[in-house]
Amino acid sequence: MKNTIEGFGEKVFGLPLMEARLSAPTFASLKKTIDTGSMLDASIADEVAEAMKEWAMEKGATHYTHWFQPLTGATAEKHDAFIFPDFKGGVVTSFSGDELIQGEPDASSFPSGGLRATFEARGYTGWDPTSPAFIKYDDAGAATLTIPTVFCGYNGEALDKKTPLLRSMKALSEQTVRLGKLFGVDCGDTMAKATLGSEQEYFLIDEDLVAARPDILQTGRTLFGKGASKHQQLDDHYFGSIKSRVAAFMADLDAELWKLGVPAKTRHNEVCPAQFEIAPVFETLNISVDHNMITMDVLRTTAEKHGFVCLLHEKPFAGVNGSGKHNNWSIMGPDGKNWLKPADNPHEYAKFMTIVVALMKAVDTHADLLRASVASAGNDHRLGANEAPPAVVSIFLGDQLTDVIEQIEAGGASSSQDGGFIHLGVDLLPKLPRGNTDRNRTSPFAFVGNRFEFRAVGSNQSPAGANIVLNTIVAEAFDYICTEVEAGVEKGGEFNAVLQDVLAAVIKEHKRILFNGDNYTQEWLDEAAKRGLPNLKNTEESLEVLATQKAKDIFAKYGVLSNVELESRYNTYTEVYETLIAIEVNTALDIAKTMIVPAAVTAINEYSSVAAVAGITDEISSLLEKTVAGIAALEAAEGATAEIAAMNELRASVDALEALVPADIWPLPTYSEMLLG
Ligand code: ADP
Ligand code: MG
Repeated sequence: MKNTIEGFGEKVFGLPLMEARLSAPTFASLKKTIDTGSMLDASIADEVAEAMKEWAMEKGATHYTHWFQPLTGATAEKHDAFIFPDFKGGVVTSFSGDELIQGEPDASSFPSGGLRATFEARGYTGWDPTSPAFIKYDDAGAATLTIPTVFCGYNGEALDKKTPLLRSMKALSEQTVRLGKLFGVDCGDTMAKATLGSEQEYFLIDEDLVAARPDILQTGRTLFGKGASKHQQLDDHYFGSIKSRVAAFMADLDAELWKLGVPAKTRHNEVCPAQFEIAPVFETLNISVDHNMITMDVLRTTAEKHGFVCLLHEKPFAGVNGSGKHNNWSIMGPDGKNWLKPADNPHEYAKFMTIVVALMKAVDTHADLLRASVASAGNDHRLGANEAPPAVVSIFLGDQLTDVIEQIEAGGASSSQDGGFIHLGVDLLPKLPRGNTDRNRTSPFAFVGNRFEFRAVGSNQSPAGANIVLNTIVAEAFDYICTEVEAGVEKGGEFNAVLQDVLAAVIKEHKRILFNGDNYTQEWLDEAAKRGLPNLKNTEESLEVLATQKAKDIFAKYGVLSNVELESRYNTYTEVYETLIAIEVNTALDIAKTMIVPAAVTAINEYSSVAAVAGITDEISSLLEKTVAGIAALEAAEGATAEIAAMNELRASVDALEALVPADIWPLPTYSEMLLG
């Protein structure tokens, strides 16, 4: 019986290939760097580079590229050929260790948020040996050895999303290992790891229809469009039979992802027609982030091959569900175990509860930072739209776990739900149900049996941002708890009693972050306001968090982002946001002026001689006037908030026109064509 997937990882220079193609000492040295995060021994780089080149050339590659993740949220690459002059008029193939380890892309075209002005114009890419290199084929079939890298300025200041992600993983690992030691887990210099599985939602729309929609082409979403009469209200799409063309697409998608070593596992239809989801098996966080970036890329290219356009925008269509990216996050201790899996023995159970309590502290203290990490123009349409969690961040623990938390807060000695007594680390706490118990889909941050799921990440965003914040705030909370417990024990306290007191105090301070009810209701938003939980409604408000002293302090303290690096993120994200809104405004104006107004005029002319439709003609005329006024108002609007309001106003008149103008005159493919076609 076969127990492998044909072709899985065939385009990846992963551990098995490294072991097969490198000398034993080189492989051992590289593996140590990967496992422990220790410095790469530069003397092995030449051998690794040569082995990578040979393998890549066997796969047809003539070029290599340092692949990196600039602050735009996309990926970038610059290609170099494996050649070196032989000084006889020809070339030999060559790829040196230096070329593997460091590259110098033209950095000027990537945002630095002011960092480069203060330092140096150049940018450097540096190999991330923990994430395997892979072969990427372009549309013409040309192969390129693609090497995951970080992207930094001359003095090492991070210009990308991978550098702070790796730093945040290191900070989390250090505090996790320290926490483990309190509970008797000591695994030498083995690191702890954060793990991630990100569920990815997307839309597939026929490419011919998209070609006739300048708004989708330029902004990724529809700026106009009257809802179809039948869309998701029938709920018949969810898990419905996947139409054969989509099925062919999905088969192709999985096959390609598997070749690239991406463990794509789950695929299904989503709530909205034309909307789908793909989920991988979880992996070490930075690899999973790279794999999500690859997945988004392969989604787009595979869609093209099948005559679709894949829309990753958070809200491509008004009135139907948007797309998110559920961020399933956990911690794998240095012992290789999932520390968010409720354990059976009292000691491990106490460790598990300590981590849950630390998460309460982390999320409550930095709910604003988590919110800021998912802020984008696209996600503004989604958060709080009764399909995605509200902008208020809270934690769902479920009834049983909440009960245990309450017991610990009360002193840890009263009876539990199933009648036992709780004394941290000594008695057995009530058994928690395993597996996927949470069916409360409305919470932004939910415990789901063996991990936390942060559901506010946008479909189009790199998962890096949210996880940089998550790792850092949890590292801080672990640090706090370790410091308190260590001090208590130092003073002669008994470990379990000290831990009990520390956790009870943290719970008391941060329990306002817990909410198990329906997060979509107005009652909750009112209650959250009473509890003083932040409700940052849009990107502009959210990004301000990055400029606060609290944010500067925590990122600097844990070595994740220096103050100037954080400031550069604030500048870049603000600029990206304003640019995106400006593109939407210009596109909306173009469409309204050159497509909608002429269509309305044509309709009025066609109808003008027919008395029977005089009423309709009048309605069209009056909406046309509104549209023209709306255009003027949008042209006059200044600043993102005013521009968005003016766009919505203009859209209302245009969508009303769509209901009256004859279908053969209407210049844009309709929602029903795109979503139900
Ligand atoms: P659901 O839709 O019920 O949330 P899915 O199977 O679609 O479930 O997605 C769950 C995701 O959570 C998968 O990517 C899965 O691999 C991931 N996951 C499971 N265990 C862990 C873990 N320990 N750490 C991180 N992610 C995990
Ligand atoms: Mg999920």
